[in-house]
Parts: sequence; structure tokens; C-alpha cells
Amino acid sequence: MPDRFATIFTCIDGRIQQPLTEWMKNHLDVEYIDTITEPGPEAVLAATGERCLEVLLEKVEISRRAHGSGTLVIAGHSDCAGNPVSDDEQRTQLRRSLDRLAERLPGTRILAVHADRCGERCWAPLLVAEVTSAPADVRLAP
Ligand SMILES: [Zn+2]
Repeated sequence: MPDRFATIFTCIDGRIQQPLTEWMKNHLDVEYIDTITEPGPEAVLAATGERCLEVLLEKVEISRRAHGSGTLVIAGHSDCAGNPVSDDEQRTQLRRSLDRLAERLPGTRILAVHADRCGERCWAPLLVAEVTSAPADVRLAP
């Protein structure tokens, strides 16, 4: 049986990595998580220019090529130093990021997750939105 990988775009913030890893292992049938970090990734993915987006997507492509990952999580979190806006605004950015990436990553299950702060050392990852983009080789029947 092949190793089962998923990929995550997450913040650099060390407080949220373990809660997100646990959430992914519980909700996705995966053993390993390839991790790409950016401060406040949902703000970057939602609004950055095409050239920067291509650089980031190349990292996803390496995970897909080398490890066969077909699942991508985009994660934001409360109290983010890289994206100090409200949780609601972060969730809006997560949805926008998901729409933007779904257009560019065919055949990929993409989940937007927000790690809500639930206490001093408590983080509760919650699913915001999910989509599976159409495969690249979809052809209409004659
Ligand atoms: Zn952050």
C-alpha cells in the first residue's frame, strides 16, 4: 500500500501545527503531511499576484508529483501575526483562496480550515469550505 500524503498551506505559527496535524489525520485518511508555510497564508493566496501564486503552486506540485498527494488544506487561525484581521475576514479570505486554487489545481480535493482559538492553549480547527476540482482530462461525451 502506498504512503498516504496530504499537503497543507499553513501559517508559520508554531501553536497551530499540532492541532492541524491531528485534525488532518482524523478527517483525512493520511499518514504524512507535506507542509508549506507562509505567514497568514489565506491573505497571501486570496490576494497575491499571479507570479507569486505560481511560485507557491510549484511547491504544491512537488508534493503532488513526489508523494501523490491529491488533497490540499489551506489553514488560517485566530490571533495571526501574519494576518491580523478578524476571524470572519480570515474565513472570507480562506473561501477566496479555495476558489482561486480550485481553478488552478485540477483533480484536487481542497479544504479550507480555520483554527479557532478556544482557550489559552486550545485551538479548534473547523472546516470552512471544501471543493474537489474537476480533473484536467475531463471530456464531454460525444
Ligand atoms: Zn498566523
